[in-house]
Amino acid sequence: MKIHEYQGKELLKKFGVVVPRGVFCPSVDDAVKAAESLGGKVWVVKAQIHAGGRGKGGGVKVAKSLDEVRQYASQILGMQLVTHQTGPVGQQVRRLLIEEGADIRKEYYVAVLTDRATQKVAMMASSEGGMDIEEVAHKTPEKILKVFIDPLDGLSDEQATYLAKGIGVPDGSIDQAVNAFKGLYRCYMETDASLAEINPLILEGNGNIKALDAKFNFDSNSLYRQPEIMAFRDLDEEDPDEVEASKFDLSYISLDGNIGCLVNGAGLAMATMDTIKLFGAEPANFLDVGGGATTEKVTEAFQIMLRNPKVKGILVNIFGGIMRCDTIATGVVVAARTTHLSVPLVVRMKGTNEDIGKKILSESGLPIITADSMAEAATKIVAAVS
Ligand code: GDP
Ligand code: MN
Repeated sequence: MKIHEYQGKELLKKFGVVVPRGVFCPSVDDAVKAAESLGGKVWVVKAQIHAGGRGKGGGVKVAKSLDEVRQYASQILGMQLVTHQTGPVGQQVRRLLIEEGADIRKEYYVAVLTDRATQKVAMMASSEGGMDIEEVAHKTPEKILKVFIDPLDGLSDEQATYLAKGIGVPDGSIDQAVNAFKGLYRCYMETDASLAEINPLILEGNGNIKALDAKFNFDSNSLYRQPEIMAFRDLDEEDPDEVEASKFDLSYISLDGNIGCLVNGAGLAMATMDTIKLFGAEPANFLDVGGGATTEKVTEAFQIMLRNPKVKGILVNIFGGIMRCDTIATGVVVAARTTHLSVPLVVRMKGTNEDIGKKILSESGLPIITADSMAEAATKIVAAVS
């Protein structure tokens, strides 16, 4: 799960990482009032969306007067912000963060993440802040420093100092940088984050170290024990069909094709999508109904798939292990009737109670096309939609 920058900064602040003073604003008038109350002469108007690269996309603007705050806030609020992380359609800006302007002398990069290769928590830091870190990693990998952290000891003073010195933090600001790194690490651990990134972490003209941006990803498997993080969830930033699916415990991801797929098991779902592609068509979604596909779940899955006007046919591919084929068949028949299914439906089922399942499908009187092999199922659904 992702959160907004202003929420990430609230977390950082709690763990002792210094962030600029700022106010979260849902409207243009609020933005102007916020700037007035913050005082000073320079403010930053920042779009709040769940994607990075906002600066380059026009979602971060430095304002030198209250009039400019109003002007930028009206421009940014409601805009369809396109960045390299949003995809071509972009994301609508519904919220703003107004902050006091910072006097930036130098921008650094720092992040804590789970390093899959070593199976350890790593802290990465770089002198090249404010830029796309993937680009730095590609062009000048020597400019990224990494330490691996023992969970029993936490981030040590030595490690934090090594990083701070290594990225060129001046002597007088090392202690502040060490404090920021340690706070970031504790924040990452205690919130069950999978990524906590500050880009840029800045050195101000007066030598102070501040987090100018905050990006977090959280492990959704631990949200049950993180009510404070869960409260940060912003459904506006998520795909509405995926939100609906998650309510029914369905793993659903929207894609661009025209064949809806309903499958049990993530591996089988991937294989099904590959097979559809192999036979020249594109899947409209990834959908794993999981182990306990009830009639209710299958009906909901059909409804979610059919809400997508691009869907011209549905392929159901089920392996009956613990899940019995007759249960799925009953679910499919009820779902097809409830949703008044009008697009072609191909069903392939294998495994426990396969014969009873097939009988239920054929006796239903519905125009269900059945198939035995994956290839046959894919051939039939591709033919039906083209
Ligand atoms: P991102 O593009 O989504 O990662 O958004 P950031 O919060 O990182 O902002 C992008 C860039 O805007 C930063 O790298 C800074 O260079 C700039 N920026 C952000 N806040 C300030 C500020 O207070 N003053 C100035 N001068 N620039 C800022
Ligand atoms: Mn950033």
